[in-house]
Amino acid sequence: MDCLFCKISANEIPATVVFENERVVAFEDIHPQAPTHVQIIPRKHIATTLDLGPEDRSVVGEIFEVAAQIARDRGVADDGFRLVVNTNTAAGQTVYHLHLHLIGGRSLGWPPG
Ligand code: 5GP
Ligand code: ZN
Repeated sequence: MDCLFCKISANEIPATVVFENERVVAFEDIHPQAPTHVQIIPRKHIATTLDLGPEDRSVVGEIFEVAAQIARDRGVADDGFRLVVNTNTAAGQTVYHLHLHLIGGRSLGWPPG
């Protein structure tokens, strides 16, 4: 499948992986928008949040748990951080493999642009 994040998951494209197990991979964003900007993905190809099914409930919970642990490990948890999932064009989704952005290490504006 011609999917960038599937290729990162399969080690076919290099990435700075910060966590991985059988179901989840987390890696540094190539264009970080903050001192901490990590992508947490299920290894399973799921294009968008709109493609989630009941069988994905457990891995969706797991990517949030992994994100929280990375936030603690990076020392951004107490100050605060943002978890973002963009869906489709208006939200700015560019990679159609579900990914949770972990963004932290600086003050973040609200509402987002
Ligand atoms: P989206 O806009 O789809 O929510 O987020 C896609 C994210 O993937 C962006 O933050 C972008 O910088 C990141 N990204 C795109 N291509 C690559 C890549 O080849 N490697 C890594 N590590 N991140 C990427
Ligand atoms: Zn994929």
